[in-house]
Amino acid sequence: MQIEKQKLLKKKYPSLFRKSTIIDCWDGWFDLIDKLAEELSIDKELKILNIMSSSGLKLTFNKTSNELDKIEESYRLKSLKICEICGKPGKLESIRLLDLPRVCCENHK
Ligand SMILES: [Zn+2]
Repeated sequence: MQIEKQKLLKKKYPSLFRKSTIIDCWDGWFDLIDKLAEELSIDKELKILNIMSSSGLKLTFNKTSNELDKIEESYRLKSLKICEICGKPGKLESIRLLDLPRVCCENHK
């Protein structure tokens, strides 16, 4: 994700992100991560250590719980329908030049 957008999220949810938190996915998921962060930021003890793209949105937290697993899974399922590049409706595809499947729309296949 572009550094400017990462900074925006970190500024908006200071308790949730560390400066060192890596947001390793493309910009199309920005709104999804914004919503997720809004939901999670209620818990002031919770930190997101890492965000990545691995068959959908994947997160690492500083703690684990069933509740967190449920939230993560629900957002992973949402991410599977959002193009990771532009945010339009998409599905999981193997993208040219990349080994890993990513969620993308018709334009970004
Ligand atoms: Zn797209």
